[in-house]
Amino acid sequence: MKVVDTIPRMSTLVKIFKKEGKSISLIPTMGYLHEGHLSLVRAARKHTDVVVMSIFVNPMQFGPKEDFEKYPRDLKRDEHLAASAGVDVIFHPSVSDMYPAGYSTYVEVCGLGDTLCGASRPGHFKGVTTVVAKLFQIVRPNIAYFGQKDAQQAIIIKKMTEDLNMGIEIKIMPIVREPDGLAMSSRNAYLSPAERKNAPALYESLKKAETLVRSGEKDAAKIIKATEDMIRVIPNAKIDYVSMVDPRNLKKIKTVTGETLIALAVFIGKTRLIDNIIVKGAK
Ligand code: AMP
Repeated sequence: MKVVDTIPRMSTLVKIFKKEGKSISLIPTMGYLHEGHLSLVRAARKHTDVVVMSIFVNPMQFGPKEDFEKYPRDLKRDEHLAASAGVDVIFHPSVSDMYPAGYSTYVEVCGLGDTLCGASRPGHFKGVTTVVAKLFQIVRPNIAYFGQKDAQQAIIIKKMTEDLNMGIEIKIMPIVREPDGLAMSSRNAYLSPAERKNAPALYESLKKAETLVRSGEKDAAKIIKATEDMIRVIPNAKIDYVSMVDPRNLKKIKTVTGETLIALAVFIGKTRLIDNIIVKGAK
């Protein structure tokens, strides 16, 4: 496995891969890898000749009061995990390489980035689409892999790729969970032992919502209330949002018919966790 930390060096490698007729997949990450990231690697391994993983904690997608500085980083650990899962190249550019002085170009998907997570993290998705567009330009992948864990991000990236005719296939892989149901996340490392013990209740609340839908409940307001009631009893939990939306366009739904994305963001103590589930209501 190669570790490449400059854009020119990555571009040279990509040229060589293309000349050799190799297909490339890209897995954009912010590192501090866990099984969720590695599941994307294993999927990519099956479909392309070369698997590139970018590891870049992107300052542009963090708000001024967010955790950019303290976001967990451990490149040596990531290198071991990535190599054992089958990554061929880690691309780990510096912030000044990605955003040199005078940088002024942004990519924004309008209309999808200001609800759900975007409502409480203004500018977040503009930062995400800008960095992903840059990574796509540098690595020129045939396929890029993202996780359903970040459901809104996945929808926005798909839209950007279509709207800008990028010609890259976007694959969205299922959420990988801890044995107790908590969605894996690099930010889980922030949780205190007590918070970690309580955190699986978020997924339990989503499962409760799913059970309600399965039993025939169609009223989104009632389902959201039942989900929120389960979250409110978690010590030190503060709900950012619990929403039921159409997974194609993120529009809020009132009545569950067909596929519905139930997404939530909740602070447990100071840590903001997200999770989601797709349910299928009867027509
Ligand atoms: P991150 O490093 O958190 O930016 O995540 C990098 C990629 O891994 C994104 O496409 C995430 O959606 C995906 N990912 C993160 N956590 C999980 C998980 N628990 N299951 C599946 N994919 C995940």
